[in-house]
Amino acid sequence: MDCLENAVFLFLGLPGVGKGTLASMIAPELDLEHISTGDLFRTEIKSGSALGEKLQDSIDKGELVSDQLVNQVVKNKISGLGNKGIILDGFPRTIEQAKSLDQMLSDFGRSVSLLIYLETTKEIIKKRLLGRLVCENCAENFNEYFKQPKVAGVCDFCQGKVSKRTDDTAELIEQRLLQYQMKTAPVKDYYQHRGLVVEFNVEKNSEQVKSTIIEALKRSFQKETFVV
Ligand code: AMP
Repeated sequence: MDCLENAVFLFLGLPGVGKGTLASMIAPELDLEHISTGDLFRTEIKSGSALGEKLQDSIDKGELVSDQLVNQVVKNKISGLGNKGIILDGFPRTIEQAKSLDQMLSDFGRSVSLLIYLETTKEIIKKRLLGRLVCENCAENFNEYFKQPKVAGVCDFCQGKVSKRTDDTAELIEQRLLQYQMKTAPVKDYYQHRGLVVEFNVEKNSEQVKSTIIEALKRSFQKETFVV
């Protein structure tokens, strides 16, 4: 097992590009903690808390949750991890969040190692989102068009209930893509200026993409640890 202690990798790209799927395949192979802000919010919503209701309200409108709240959630999560390497999936999504991440990482003696930018066509994105099915128990992804569960409505892995996300409707998808263009796209430039971005086209076989990304993560981190 490769040990990437202190590494901080960011996965960025349009909603539905496959950040969560790839991050959840790669994290266990490199002993990294996979932190998905979207998953953290959905867990909070399921708990029925007052905070969960507030989060549901933003998600139901296809809007981003406030920077202040997201930053706090991520800080709490990172502070409990010691030196463990991290993949951040779905964060930062605004320049404000990127600045806050820099600050919190520097407080922990860390910095961003690499940003993996995933891209594909808008047509594929829309089909992935409209057909997406998610296990309510283990969060495994399926798709009505590309990857149906063996038994309809039941997760292949944990037998949990498989359903559509409430924000995967045609109207909310448009709204989320718009939010991405306005607020999240500039985050790529923010890291590109620091030479930290590597781009991957994810139309191809996901096993192949996964292996190429794993090599890029290992290489970037080896470089970082050897520069003293
Ligand atoms: P995701 O599962 O990453 O598509 O996230 C689902 C929803 O959670 C998003 O559409 C946002 O409403 C909210 N969300 C997740 N991550 C963030 C973030 N970093 N900043 C603001 N809102 C977020």
